[in-house]
Amino acid sequence: MKINSAKYLISSAQIKQCPKPDRPEYAFIGRSNVGKSSLINMITGQKALAKTSATPGKTQLINHFEIESSSAEKGPKSRWFLVDLPGYGYAKRSQSERARWEEMINGYLRKRENLVQVFVLIDSRHTPQKNDLEFVSQLDHWKVNFSLVFTKTDKEKPAVVARNIQAFLDKLKETWQFLPRHFVTSAEKKLGRDELLQFIENCNKE
Ligand code: GDP
Repeated sequence: MKINSAKYLISSAQIKQCPKPDRPEYAFIGRSNVGKSSLINMITGQKALAKTSATPGKTQLINHFEIESSSAEKGPKSRWFLVDLPGYGYAKRSQSERARWEEMINGYLRKRENLVQVFVLIDSRHTPQKNDLEFVSQLDHWKVNFSLVFTKTDKEKPAVVARNIQAFLDKLKETWQFLPRHFVTSAEKKLGRDELLQFIENCNKE
């Protein structure tokens, strides 16, 4: 898939401020500092579409981007929304900020009618983290379609990355019969881009 254009559209505090749900939508979320902005910039081929922030946990809004892509050079165009959601697990956030985050994210994930897939980013350098496991369990409980995206795989030895990914999947296997799809990525090395875009293209065709 080729990205023809990627443009920032709007930041919303509530679902009712979000753009008209007239095309497929894909949302990205994860713990703050997981590498979400870097991944969004990598897959859209833009240097600074999503802001890689020096202060983790700063973006507290639902950020919509308008993407136009085509499957081949002269192929039909498809238009979709990419959504950058504020991350979780930021320790310095106050109780009231956390409650606001939860209300906004829960409302969005459960009610956004054109939401095709949520990509949950997991830092591949770490063993399974409680807040990541809790978040994916919540998505499963709400029957929200999601995939896992393991990030920063260039930062650790391949054996450590493989072990961490397996450990995360094993944790899920303890309670689930079916495992979600997962992608292995590095924004630094542009790894996993084709797989993610191919998956989005396939979903757009459905
Ligand atoms: P966000 O807070 O989840 O949006 O994370 P950022 O995209 O801002 O990334 C947090 C930090 O991790 C930054 O210093 C990035 O340069 C770094 N980073 C993100 N992705 C990668 C990656 O794939 N490889 C490496 N080596 N560093 C990364």
